[in-house]
Amino acid sequence: MTNSVLENNAVVRGLCPHDCPDTCALLTTVENGRAVKVQGNPDHLHTQGVLCTKVSRYTERTYSPERLMHPLKRSGPKGAGKFVQVTWEKAIQDIAARLKAIASENPEAVLPYSYAGTMGWVQSEAMATRFFNKMGASQLDRTICASAGGEGLVYTLGGKFGMKTEFFSESKLIVIWGSNSITSNVHFWRRAQEAKRNGAKLICIDPRHSETAEKCHVHLPIRPGTDAALAFAIMRELVVNDWLDTDYIDKYTLGWAELRERAMTWTLDRAADVCGVDEDLIRALAKDWGTTSKAAIRLNYGMQRVKGGANAVRAIACLPALTGAWRDRAGGLLLSSSSNFKVNKKDLHRPDLLGERRPRTLNMTTIGNDLIHPGSPEWGPQVKALLVYNSNPVAIAPQSGKVVQGFAREDLFTVVMEHFQTDTADYADYVLPATTQLEHWDVQGSYGHTDVLLNRPAIAPVGQAKSNSEIFRLLAKAMGYTEACFSEDDLSMCRTAVGSDVDFQALLDVGFVSMPVPDAPFAEGGFATPSGRCEFVSDRLAAQGLDPLPDHIPNYEVPLAGHRFPLAMISPPARNFLNSSFVNVDSLREIEKEPLIEICSEDAAARGIATGDTVKVFNDRGEYHCKADVSKRARPGVVNGLGIWWRKMGLNGTNVNEVTSQLLTDLGRAPVFYDCQVEVALLKKA
Ligand code: SF4
Repeated sequence: MTNSVLENNAVVRGLCPHDCPDTCALLTTVENGRAVKVQGNPDHLHTQGVLCTKVSRYTERTYSPERLMHPLKRSGPKGAGKFVQVTWEKAIQDIAARLKAIASENPEAVLPYSYAGTMGWVQSEAMATRFFNKMGASQLDRTICASAGGEGLVYTLGGKFGMKTEFFSESKLIVIWGSNSITSNVHFWRRAQEAKRNGAKLICIDPRHSETAEKCHVHLPIRPGTDAALAFAIMRELVVNDWLDTDYIDKYTLGWAELRERAMTWTLDRAADVCGVDEDLIRALAKDWGTTSKAAIRLNYGMQRVKGGANAVRAIACLPALTGAWRDRAGGLLLSSSSNFKVNKKDLHRPDLLGERRPRTLNMTTIGNDLIHPGSPEWGPQVKALLVYNSNPVAIAPQSGKVVQGFAREDLFTVVMEHFQTDTADYADYVLPATTQLEHWDVQGSYGHTDVLLNRPAIAPVGQAKSNSEIFRLLAKAMGYTEACFSEDDLSMCRTAVGSDVDFQALLDVGFVSMPVPDAPFAEGGFATPSGRCEFVSDRLAAQGLDPLPDHIPNYEVPLAGHRFPLAMISPPARNFLNSSFVNVDSLREIEKEPLIEICSEDAAARGIATGDTVKVFNDRGEYHCKADVSKRARPGVVNGLGIWWRKMGLNGTNVNEVTSQLLTDLGRAPVFYDCQVEVALLKKA
């Protein structure tokens, strides 16, 4: 195994940094200085030697002929993708000069834009955050994926805690709620299959008849945004059938009387009407939940991308406490485990570099509106410079027509750090080639298990690529920032990130370390809420003037009779893509073929649409052209626009986010990608 010195022939331990709860341990085989194979580490409990198809092809991605090899400077109009090669020195000096000029007028006119393209603690928000803190730039509210559900957990359980993923294999009932686990959580799916072989019942709740739903015993194809209604109907059934664990409720929860009153209004027929599923299915689900010991819920983030997403998570997170499911390590719920990790943000991000300044915060979800905002005394200065890393906002942010309009501003100075010439890179003034995970150090926890992993560089940077942290180090130097933290190297930052909570030598020796987390975290209460109980009623929400109880909050956009846009649309990831990553890997794109919308046979017939036809998906925000797939994966009234294709690979240069909105969730200020009404019309027969 290599340490800081690269070896020509070696097997190097690493971790997968992509936005996935599994956070796999990687083994990269290097021959003559070139990575020839990337495999799962068989010694790592959660990886079990297996990677998903996407990352097992990582060498194809790393050595792709389309990989960015040199810094590039724009030579054509914004968005045209025309660039000339420049040296690193020129790029860094030019960028620093532009940023200095803008920041000297008002540093809040500079905005970072980043998310989970790389989730590592060092290559995401470490040197970058120090840099922007020193400058006093606007801060970014990183909400694009999980903050509604995260808030739901925080107000109910006290943090992003839950079952350990390994104990799902002992469960006797697994409710997979809002997740296509085969696609987005494959190592959990292996546990679920183990449980199934041992007699467990698997139930999937998802508007789409996904690959996962297909393999479960029962599928409830509920309408998008109706999950809380379903949870309340289950609660009512628990009450009327006396399936409650009253001892657990008395000792370890807060606010049952109030929650019970609300739940009792959710009769089976009311919930069936709202959710659009047969009431017998809801009754049977409630019975399974109320009468099975070792009952577990694997909740995932799809269901919280609607107006009431956080409330829905709150309602669902009450269910294990009502039946005392938490008493057993194979019972309870898992949405995210990320609060088990305490990143040493004080030393890694250096908030002290802000001094007395408190810059404004802009929400990454509303980047479309924010880039075209002219600025005002209340809002602050117009955004004049944008530094994008670990993200592809032109493809992934909602209402992309507005996003494109903002990125196309000739007076906006945009720098993009990337592996490939993405939709966003096309709008950059400078594109800087970034290293992939095989080429840099990093360290990271997980939101699906409780291990910290270390990533060693396996190969030298490809072409002239540099790590994100090295790019920000160079920019800091060119800006004249002299604090010692701007010279810290990546390996040292890995140590800084984990602080004293993790044995760093063990990370160096083995590659991963488990956090000391109890097997059944809430068996005897011990919730991380202010009361120490599972809070059905939240004083913290009441103090903000909000409803202290969870509720069913209908979507912003609901199908009304005679509405111009009668179909609800969800946009889950295509199986071989991860958000907009991997779309340009030829062998993966060949599997996905082309952008498509799944539509059920009756909705298709009503519009004269057959599989293979070219259709337009549209609403007042825009239109998206793709192929139709008349499929049992879509339920009546709901279409599935699989994502996230790069716009430039779309049939009319758009993707599914052309029609999504910039509205926000009830809590967490998150996007509502799955709260979107559209119409679908035939453009051309196959
Ligand atoms: S994307 Fe997920 S399943 Fe695939 S290798 Fe990475 S962590 Fe593992």
